[in-house]
Amino acid sequence: MRAMQTLVAIIGFGSIPFAALGETAAEPDLEYPVPILAGANYDPDIPTLESLLGFSVGKRIAAPAEIEAVINAYAKASSRVAVFEYARSYEGRGLYYVAISTPDNIARLDEIRGGWAKIADPREIESDDADELLQQLPAVAWMAYSIHGNETSGADAALALAYHLAAARDPQVEALLRDTVVLIDPMMNPDGRHRTSEQLAQHRGRQRNIDDQSLLHTGYWPWGRTNHYLFDLNRDWIYGVNPESRGRIAAAGGWNPLLFVDAHEMGAQDTYLFSPPRDPHNPNFPPSLGPWVERFAEDQARAFDANHWPYYTGEWNEGWYPGYSNAWAGLRGAVGMLYEQASVDEDGILRADGSVLTYSQAIHHQFVSSLANLQTLHANADQLKRNFLEIRRAAVGANGPYARRSFAILADGNQGRIERFVDLMQLQGIEVYRLTQPLMTRATDQLGRTSSVRLPVGTLLVPNRQPEANLVATLLEFDPRMPEETLKKERRELLMRNDSRIYDVTSWNISMMFGLEALELPIALPQQVEPVSTTIAAPVAVDGTALAYVFDGRDDRSVAAAARLAVRGLTARVGEKEFTLDGTAFARGSVVVTRYDNRDEQELAGAINAVAAQLKIAPTAITSGWGPGDAPDLGGGYFVRLTAPTIAVLARGGIRPYDYGNVWKLLDQDIGIRHSQIDEALLAETDLRRYNVLVLPDRWQGELDSAAVERINDWVAAGGTLIAIGQSAAQLAQPDQGVDAVRALPQALEELQTFELAVLREAMADQDTRLGDSVWSHGVTTDYRFPWPADADWPEIEELQKRDDWLKLFMPQGAFVAARVDTEHWLSFGSPATLPVLYGNAPVLFSAPPAETPVRLGAYRPAADAQSSAAGEDEAVRRAGWLALPDEQGLDLRMSGLLWPEAAQRMAHGAYLVRETVGDGQIILFAAPPSFRGATLGTMRLLANALVYGPGFGSSQAIRP
Ligand SMILES: [Zn+2]
Repeated sequence: MRAMQTLVAIIGFGSIPFAALGETAAEPDLEYPVPILAGANYDPDIPTLESLLGFSVGKRIAAPAEIEAVINAYAKASSRVAVFEYARSYEGRGLYYVAISTPDNIARLDEIRGGWAKIADPREIESDDADELLQQLPAVAWMAYSIHGNETSGADAALALAYHLAAARDPQVEALLRDTVVLIDPMMNPDGRHRTSEQLAQHRGRQRNIDDQSLLHTGYWPWGRTNHYLFDLNRDWIYGVNPESRGRIAAAGGWNPLLFVDAHEMGAQDTYLFSPPRDPHNPNFPPSLGPWVERFAEDQARAFDANHWPYYTGEWNEGWYPGYSNAWAGLRGAVGMLYEQASVDEDGILRADGSVLTYSQAIHHQFVSSLANLQTLHANADQLKRNFLEIRRAAVGANGPYARRSFAILADGNQGRIERFVDLMQLQGIEVYRLTQPLMTRATDQLGRTSSVRLPVGTLLVPNRQPEANLVATLLEFDPRMPEETLKKERRELLMRNDSRIYDVTSWNISMMFGLEALELPIALPQQVEPVSTTIAAPVAVDGTALAYVFDGRDDRSVAAAARLAVRGLTARVGEKEFTLDGTAFARGSVVVTRYDNRDEQELAGAINAVAAQLKIAPTAITSGWGPGDAPDLGGGYFVRLTAPTIAVLARGGIRPYDYGNVWKLLDQDIGIRHSQIDEALLAETDLRRYNVLVLPDRWQGELDSAAVERINDWVAAGGTLIAIGQSAAQLAQPDQGVDAVRALPQALEELQTFELAVLREAMADQDTRLGDSVWSHGVTTDYRFPWPADADWPEIEELQKRDDWLKLFMPQGAFVAARVDTEHWLSFGSPATLPVLYGNAPVLFSAPPAETPVRLGAYRPAADAQSSAAGEDEAVRRAGWLALPDEQGLDLRMSGLLWPEAAQRMAHGAYLVRETVGDGQIILFAAPPSFRGATLGTMRLLANALVYGPGFGSSQAIRP
């Protein structure tokens, strides 16, 4: 998650030791002396890059439309080349892979891909047949460039590589193409590259600009690294949230490449880095690939040595996070190679040693790297092919490492989320089954507790033993652990340098991301199952004549349904409690549209049918408003009337682009309603009365100025719903900034007694069971015990601050922690009682009444088996972190990933989601971003509830006469 923490990370530039710029006595030679494409004998019938682009390679970057034109021109001119579109970006740009091989191979591409699909699933192929097939199949390389749109040199090198392979007539290239199909993905993020290209065009000058601090080179908010919704596509390979990734996962996965290259850029003052990564390595990475990555790297190093170019490997990139391009490819059995070229852009960069690195040099490095890797593939193709087959045989073997393990996903009625899970598995080529008979088995849950369970019919099962076994294990196993040596090194780095060696989140478990309860089973796939596929039938249209229509609140899509109905002018209500109508039980949070509220039959039917069709969700028609017993009746007070949300989101300025992008995509694509985006710099002139919901995403720089905060608070007091995330939440938790009953560490240390009592009160509300004896006793007890510890003294504030400073050193890079959920609060509609929360180096908040805390960090378990209850009975106060534990309770926090004990101390009982009434409005704070990479569906539901239900539930809107 560090990649999200620093400005440097998103711009892509490292720290810059810089020589005096003003003293450039003589203009350095900015033309690269050796043209990239020299020395080969090129077919004159293939148009040169210069003739197609109108400028020489490296003069400036090729824009997405130019790249598209060039590859299509090659396909037209050469029988070695074929172009395939595999996706469209959000902005409508094509994503392509260019297949280059001999004309014979190009003519049988389908057959080659089909052959590799057979090898990739050796369950269906006899051993001899596999050997014979391997002989005939050319090796496949997937060469991918510039997934970060502002890391431009890769795509330009891809064009040079494509030209070289299409046009070169030397025997080496011809032999390579005979034995290899080279698939070039020249621009993996056309929308981001377009943004970069526009920014460059706007800042290009007559004089060359070689200062890497200048706008031409830095770019500006939101930069070109990410895609349209500001998602980092080089983290999306395991989640498949964006269309670029989805198309690519299917295309690259379908080809089963043996080599997978992923070309990036890094800081302008750096040199060149390539694989292998340093530790920690993902434990599910096929072990046989390690030496191969080393082998490719050695050859690449030799190619650099021959040119006298500096390079290095294994210094900062690690191999733990599986959602990078090359990591994902490795888990599927390819040799994954990462390139990181010093970022130059167009005009070149003056470096600390006084030299200038030109853009054509940068392209040349990427080009030479690509050719070197292709040659290593060619030279070792037979062994690599065989190795791939062996990896796949181990994956499906009855005695393979993954043979006796399966994962169960418990069906909880959240059909929308279950379908997204199945869809993701199928996108990744992973087989999913459903139980057709109940199953008794041992099982381990997401907190590591093992017991015997009875799994009901309908439970989803994913056997680990299947062709994509390595990927299955990576995505679904709960708690992969780093070796002791890695922990030691990481801890030393934290202690000695206040820095981390971990480059991304340390946990990504899909069931936890999705907020789905899951179990690990020590068994192979049982017999009583059927395969699952996502074939969502369109819901049957309704005629609008029923008394009411209900969308069940367990399903995430019900929130989008409520929002879309509301903006269509319908009146929708939401059941605060669970209810039963017409004999059907509905979860709390279910959305009800009644004839009483909506008199026009046709309008009602039209809106419901449109929304149901868009969301592929079926409403239940209701004929009576009678709820049996004391269950809510339709006309009663438990069905809260929604106010249509009119939403604004703060953007630019100090707002973290990733978090803004997550909120934006959730609103625009998933919930699917209109909303406004406000420039932070213009906030003072903005008429906030137009909105009833305002979102302040996480910040990475500075605070909102005090005038802005004052304006926002006035708007809240008048009935607004303010949602603040991460650092924005921490700012509002300061005295006189917004909320009164919430404080972030370290300020929270001054009121620990208040927060401790709040936590104990919540626990008593849920856990007191033996009330009768004391209540009905006539006597006044002489040994009444207060819920807080008798000896409740904390150390002096200076000591507490010292402790907080210490514990803070160890905050996670991104780990899953267990949170306890108030399952009667409207903000937690659709949430289980224990919710996995992804937490990085975010603020830690504490809260007390009158603030409400629907989600708090830490899940209780009986002290007898609680790991955190190690303290002896005679100890006066049992505290988990800052605050006391209720009697007989322990607290679980870490679910998955690296969470140091110090961080657990600091975070225990922290408020993750908190709500406070302010005047007629409310402030809702998320301590950490609820949407991470658009894939944390569990916590995203909380945000969706806040956005859509906020104006109806927590604030009081004026009746407009
Ligand atoms: Zn990159």
